[in-house]
Amino acid sequence: MTPNKRRAVMQSAAAMTVGAVAACAAPGRASAVKTPFTVGATYIAIAGSDELFPVRRIYCIGRNYAAHAREMGSDPTREPPFFFQKPTDAIQNVTPGTVADHPYPTLTKNYHYEVELVAALKGGGRNITPEKALENVYAYAVGLDMTRRDLQRAMGDQKKPWEIGKSFDRSAPIGPLHLASSTGHFTQGSIWLKVNGETRQNANLNQMIWSVAEQISQLSQAFELAAGDIIYSGTPENVGPVVKGDEIVCHIDGLPDLSVKIT
Ligand code: MN
Repeated sequence: MTPNKRRAVMQSAAAMTVGAVAACAAPGRASAVKTPFTVGATYIAIAGSDELFPVRRIYCIGRNYAAHAREMGSDPTREPPFFFQKPTDAIQNVTPGTVADHPYPTLTKNYHYEVELVAALKGGGRNITPEKALENVYAYAVGLDMTRRDLQRAMGDQKKPWEIGKSFDRSAPIGPLHLASSTGHFTQGSIWLKVNGETRQNANLNQMIWSVAEQISQLSQAFELAAGDIIYSGTPENVGPVVKGDEIVCHIDGLPDLSVKIT
C-alpha cells in the first residue's frame, strides 16, 4: 500500500461508524447498536498488510531503565514496576519515510521526548507467567511517549495524578506494527533518539529493568489484558525538551525509524 493510500485508509478507518465497528469488532454483542452520534475508533498500521490493528488500551511503564530512573530522582532497584495509561485516541500514526507534523501541545513550557519500544497484544488474560507472556505479543513498533514534563512534575509534587502531563491528545506517536512472527521478540538491540541530527538518547533494550515478558506478567496481575492492548515499555536516560521546529528521529534496531517535526 502506498503512503497516500494508507493515510486514506487510516482516515476512513477513523471515521468508521459505531454500527460498523460494533458489527465487526464486538462478536457476541448486538450488531445493530443505535447511537446519537459517531465516535471514531483508533487503529495502528500493520507493516506489509492492508489490515489495521484496533487499539483497546495503551499502557505505559514508568522508569524501566536504571539511568532514567536516577535522572527522574528515584532509586532504580528492582521494585515492582508501575504503569499508567494514555487514552487510545492519543495515538498519532507515523508512516516510515515521512516526517509527521506533531503539534506542540497547550499548557506546557517543557515538552519532552521519550523513545520507547511498543509491544502490541493479540491475546491476554489474568496472572500470565513471564514464560507464557510473549505468546500474547502480536507485533512491535517504535513509539514516542511525549510528555508535558513540567505538568507531570507539578502533579507528582502535589501527589496528584499524572494525567495532564502524560495522557493528552496526540501524546503517543507510533510507527507501523511489525509482526513478532517475522521480527522475533525484542530483548536487545540499539534504541536511540536524535533531535535535529544530534544524538540525545542512546541505549540498549537489554538495559530494561523489566523485560516485555515481565511487564506483561506484572500488568496482568493488576488488569485483565486483551487483544488490542499495547504497552509502551519505558524510555532510557537523557530525556529532554523540544521546541517548535525541532525534528525528532527515533530508532530501534530491526524497525523502521520514526520521525516527527514539532509544529
Ligand atoms: Mn515513558
